[in-house]
Amino acid sequence: MSTCIFCQIMEGSIPSAKVYEDDYVYAFLDTSQVTPGHTLVIPKKHVPDIMAYDEELAGQVFARLPKISRAILNAFPDAKGINILNNNGELAYQTVFHSHIHLIPRYSEDDGFSLKFVSQADNYSQEEFQNRAEQISKQLK
Ligand code: 5GP
Ligand code: ZN
Repeated sequence: MSTCIFCQIMEGSIPSAKVYEDDYVYAFLDTSQVTPGHTLVIPKKHVPDIMAYDEELAGQVFARLPKISRAILNAFPDAKGINILNNNGELAYQTVFHSHIHLIPRYSEDDGFSLKFVSQADNYSQEEFQNRAEQISKQLK
């Protein structure tokens, strides 16, 4: 038996509230239900985080997000939007190291989910900005 709780969920040894399954992904309600309908989508292949995806796996997982998101919004007509979130690494709030995508339907500003983007736009020069882009793009060559 796997030691990974999400693999155990897929194997059925830990119960889950399944919302969707096919050859590549398994989707089920997150027990925390940050908002009603909060769903996790996981690849059936055990990979720890997004960095471990190849393009094929990424295509399989991400191609399914629109239809599952639509299903959540259709099921909960009070929801006005949906946050799609994927935490990678402990510092980035990842607690389960089988990669998963959170689908969090949004009902109001104080519905239980919040996300803070603190702009640092005043704290760097245009040159630093360009250098940062180059640092990343060099790694993609
Ligand atoms: P993370 O913090 O890694 O991005 O998210 C992990 C999520 O998994 C948490 O939101 C947590 O509520 C959920 N979770 C942890 N254990 C279980 C479980 O046994 N069953 C279900 N359905 N969700 C779980
Ligand atoms: Zn796993």
